[in-house]
Amino acid sequence: MRHKGILIVVSGFSGAGKGTLMKKLVQEYDNYALSISATTRAPRAGEEDGREYFFLTKEAFEQKIAEDGLIEYACYCDNYYGTPRDYVEKQLAAGRDVILEIEIQGALKIRKQFPTALLLFVMPPDAEELKRRLTGRGTENEEAVAKRMARAVEEADGIEEYDYIVVNDDLERCVKELHEIILAAHNTPFRNEEFIEKIREELKVLAKGEK
Ligand code: ADP
Ligand code: 5GP
Repeated sequence: MRHKGILIVVSGFSGAGKGTLMKKLVQEYDNYALSISATTRAPRAGEEDGREYFFLTKEAFEQKIAEDGLIEYACYCDNYYGTPRDYVEKQLAAGRDVILEIEIQGALKIRKQFPTALLLFVMPPDAEELKRRLTGRGTENEEAVAKRMARAVEEADGIEEYDYIVVNDDLERCVKELHEIILAAHNTPFRNEEFIEKIREELKVLAKGEK
């Protein structure tokens, strides 16, 4: 059976471990292309322009929107975040599985544009552990942590829109589970309509010849 790339959306509350999981997933398996988003938020210590994000000014981001250079974008905790169109289209055309690590408003826009996209939601083992991870990361001040926790409460109402939830308890186990879900998702009938149609036509021809 042919392997056509699928679009994979990974969402989850801030601090759940999405970034850490995606880094490991692309290190351990070579069929994934991880999209790099554009954002207006300031880089964190250790983040590099063009590696974690393309860091843009508000004006440059709005220019990208005007040029239709983003396949989706959203506002999250006072900043813009968006997915550059070129990379995603090129990688999908090359047959690769493309991962978008984006929040829920963007995820729902992707589902509308790409009905066969796979939507995964990363959960923490419990809420206390989420807060521990978010504060332990040490990248946001108290006010920003509170904003992100409040946003998590809102995001929790949208989890039913996703295809699968994945609990990030043990990192290695979770990476393996994500990979297995993605492999299985390739084999759903609605992601294989061309292949199914081809077999149907072949069957009809063969069945006729063997009256
Ligand atoms: P997100 O991208 O979802 O905001 P991060 O990947 O930045 O989250 O992870 C938040 C913090 O939690 C980081 O300090 C990271 O090292 C830690 N972390 C991620 N996954 C796990 C895990 N499975 N167990 C313990 N700590 C984790
Ligand atoms: P952070 O500031 O922690 O890197 O990201 C904040 C939130 O923005 C996370 O939920 C992350 O998944 C989301 N995000 C990152 N890139 C994009 C994007 O391109 N589009 C959308 N809609 N959300 C994004």
